[in-house]
Amino acid sequence: MGESNVADGEGERYIYSYDMTENEPRRPVAVVMPATVEEVQAIVRLANERRTPLVPFVTGQNVGGLTIPQVDGAVIVDLRRMNRILTVDEDAMYALIEPGVTFGHMKRYLGRHSPGLRYTYPLAPPFTSIVANALLQGLCDLSTRRGAMENFINGFEVVLPTGEIVRVGSGILGEDNWFGRYPLPDLVGLFSGWQGMTGIVTKMAVQLWPKQPYVRYAALFTTDEEQTVGLLRRIVRTQVLDDADCMSVSLVKMLLGAEPPVDIYPDEPQYATLLTVSGQNELEVEGKYQAVAQAVARERSRDRRVNLIDWDAITVLMGRDANSWVDFPSDAFKILAEYDGLTWVGTYVHPARWATALKRGREVVERYGFELMAFLKPMNGMHYGELKFIVRFPKDPETIERVRQCNSELLDVLLALGAIPYKTPVWAARRLLERCDSGFVQLLRRIREFLDPNGILNPGRYSL
Ligand SMILES: Cc1cc2nc3c(=O)[nH]c(=O)nc-3n(C[C@H](O)[C@H](O)[C@H](O)COP(=O)(O)OP(=O)(O)OC[C@H]3O[C@@H](n4cnc5c(N)ncnc54)[C@H](O)[C@@H]3O)c2cc1C
Repeated sequence: MGESNVADGEGERYIYSYDMTENEPRRPVAVVMPATVEEVQAIVRLANERRTPLVPFVTGQNVGGLTIPQVDGAVIVDLRRMNRILTVDEDAMYALIEPGVTFGHMKRYLGRHSPGLRYTYPLAPPFTSIVANALLQGLCDLSTRRGAMENFINGFEVVLPTGEIVRVGSGILGEDNWFGRYPLPDLVGLFSGWQGMTGIVTKMAVQLWPKQPYVRYAALFTTDEEQTVGLLRRIVRTQVLDDADCMSVSLVKMLLGAEPPVDIYPDEPQYATLLTVSGQNELEVEGKYQAVAQAVARERSRDRRVNLIDWDAITVLMGRDANSWVDFPSDAFKILAEYDGLTWVGTYVHPARWATALKRGREVVERYGFELMAFLKPMNGMHYGELKFIVRFPKDPETIERVRQCNSELLDVLLALGAIPYKTPVWAARRLLERCDSGFVQLLRRIREFLDPNGILNPGRYSL
């Protein structure tokens, strides 16, 4: 691996000790940067022999404290040098990639080499890892139609905590055969959602989709929580949308350049949603757009403040910047990086409790004096909803404490409504595990002990 790819200096140990969240920092003892699966395997074998804790890492942008070591003596395994797109299979529509491949990297590569195909892209910075986000079951710009990013995984190669290399998915029959996960025992679940506790994924096959030649965007403005969620649910169930990103209007105003704290007036729309429809030709897109417009018109006949505005009109008003917001991964994430602190409580929630969750969560955020930055996405054809409360904050001790209390209260409110937290920090996982089915917790522990008998991979993570 070479000495230049191993570091234990004070500077490196400090940089890898924290992230943007309020979670307590802890320094690793060293950082290693493997470039091949054999190097990952050698690191894991040695660590397993010596009982050294390892923390897999790509860019540490998970917004959950998930790469901060939970125990002393940990070594960070930074995978960013493993950044090759190994194959794009145009017939089965998948890409085989290494963990250091980023969203920006994939978009550029497909644009150049396979322009008929696309991946799914988040609001996250373009320099973050696809593999890490897929394993974290994150959400992207095809999630309203196709669900969380785990749904896009066809299989992978993984180094187990004991050093063996195994494959899951149809790639078990060969390097050019990563077309899917079925019909097989679905072992993706032994590694996905585990925050790097059960193995280090070194190659992943992810689904690509045909890039539709015609795409149309619109902004939907709605008033309160019940109306916003109710209308979104009706629109998504028409099955014409690719995606929907709903934000509190304060977030939109900040995108438009308003300085926080943003003024919100009682009679103005409280939420704005970016809607996307696409198709093979203009007629198809127009038909889908009209289905949305009809659902909106019915609501508008009851409340004139509801509005659907075509993105072309917004571009005329706002200039070219407006186009960059809809082109994911976009620049829009930059407004979240205003301060050194960024955190959220994010959950997936039952559709019937989505509006209540939004309303009660909003009350908590406002009571703690933070600007409301709520973000919602209908998921997987409206089988469930996503909801998060984003807080940007300066990292001074008083504000960090206020953030902790606010997030703690938010989590309690959301757990009480059956919402499941994602990218779950340890403190939040602990609270979830205390409340949930005890058989599930015991099964998690048994699986972890079975795969990692010496407890070397990310110990303490997920409060396990
Ligand atoms: C401003 C902002 C906006 C964001 N918006 C979105 C969004 O819209 N949608 C969304 O889903 N996310 C969003 N995110 C979250 C973030 O982009 C993702 O979680 C990220 O892509 C994960 O990549 P990473 O490189 O940061 O992973 P890391 O933080 O380095 O790792 C994440 C976790 O995965 C584990 N891990 C990493 N690599 C491996 C591996 N190869 N094998 C096993 N375990 C591994 C780590 O141990 C850790 O637990 C946003 C983040 C920011 C900062």
